[in-house]
Amino acid sequence: MQNSIKLNDVPLKKYNTLQLESYANVVYFPLNKQGLIEVLNTTHNSKRIIIGKGSNILLKKERYEDEYVFIITSLMDDIHIENDEIVCEAGASLSSLAWFAIEHSIEGYAFAEDIPGTVGGALIMNAGQYEFTIGQYVNWVDVYDTELNEVKRINPEEGFFTYRHAKFKSTDIVLSCGLKNMGGDDLENLEKVLNYKRERYRKQPRNYPNAGSVFKRPKKDGEWLFVWKLFEACGLRGKRIGGAELSFKHPGFIVNVNHASTKDVFDLIELCQKSVKDMFDVDLELEWKVIE
Ligand SMILES: Cc1cc2nc3c(=O)[nH]c(=O)nc-3n(C[C@H](O)[C@H](O)[C@H](O)COP(=O)(O)OP(=O)(O)OC[C@H]3O[C@@H](n4cnc5c(N)ncnc54)[C@H](O)[C@@H]3O)c2cc1C
Repeated sequence: MQNSIKLNDVPLKKYNTLQLESYANVVYFPLNKQGLIEVLNTTHNSKRIIIGKGSNILLKKERYEDEYVFIITSLMDDIHIENDEIVCEAGASLSSLAWFAIEHSIEGYAFAEDIPGTVGGALIMNAGQYEFTIGQYVNWVDVYDTELNEVKRINPEEGFFTYRHAKFKSTDIVLSCGLKNMGGDDLENLEKVLNYKRERYRKQPRNYPNAGSVFKRPKKDGEWLFVWKLFEACGLRGKRIGGAELSFKHPGFIVNVNHASTKDVFDLIELCQKSVKDMFDVDLELEWKVIE
C-alpha cells in the first residue's frame, strides 16, 4: 500500500493561502498517519517544513532548495468515531471536522467550520474564535518527536493550551488526535455554523488571498487591545506596498491584491509594527509562522 507521494520542483502558491509565489525542490504528501511516520523516519538529515493548509504561514524564500523537505499533510484527512471520541488525522480540515460533528450530532465544533486550516495546524497554535479553541476539546494527541525519533501520546493537562499557543515541543509533529464527543443537537450546530459564517463574511476580506489575522492581540496595562483599531488610529487602513494591502475592509488582515511579493508583505508588516510602536508604545507579535 502506498502511504505517501513524493514530488519535485513543486510550486507552493496553492499551498499557502496568501498565494505567494515560491517553489520547493522536494515535497512529500503523506496519505495517512503511517505515511507521515515513514516520511519523518527517512528525512532526519533534512530541514523539515510541515504544512497543513498553509493558512497561517509566510513563505520567506523564493525557492527552498534540496536541504529542505516540505511535508504537506492535507491528504491525510481521516475522521472517524472510535471508543466514543472523534479521532482525526492531522491533515483533516477544520471545516470537515465541524461538518462531521454536525452529521454525528456532536456539539462544540461549530466555531471551527470557517477557519481554513487543518486540525494539526490548529493544535499547534490553539486556533479558535470567541471563547472557543480547539484545545478545549482535546483528549489526546499523538505526535512524532523529531528529537527522539519516536511516536508518543500527549494527554494535555490544564494549562497546556493557552491563547494561540500550545506547549508542544518545537520538535513535535502532530500525527492524529482524539477529540471529545459531547453529544448534542445537529440542527442547533448547523445554525451556529451559519451564524459564524455570516458574521465572518460580513467582517473579513474574502475577495483577496490572505492568511487570517497577521498579529496576535497585544495587551497593554493588563487590557487586551484590538489590532485593527490601532492601525485605524495610525491611518493605515487600506495602506498598500506593492501588491500587499492592509485590508481596507478589515485592517487586521494583510491581503494579496496584486501578485504581492514576500518583500511587499514584510515591508508592510514592518511599517505596521513601527507605526504602532511609535504611536502607542505597543509591540506587535506576528501570529503567522515565517518559513525561514
Ligand atoms: C480567512 C482566514 C481566517 C482565519 N480565521 C482564524 C480564526 O478565526 N482563528 C484562528 O485561530 N485562526 C484563523 N486563521 C488562521 C489559520 O487558519 C489557523 O491558524 C489554522 O489553524 C492554521 O492551520 P493550517 O493547517 O493552515 O496550518 P499551516 O498554516 O499550514 O501551519 C501553521 C504552523 O503550524 C505548523 N503545522 C501545521 N501542521 C502541523 C502538524 N501536523 N504538526 C506540527 N506542526 C504543524 C506549521 O509548520 C506552521 O508552523 C484564519 C486564516 C484565514 C486565511
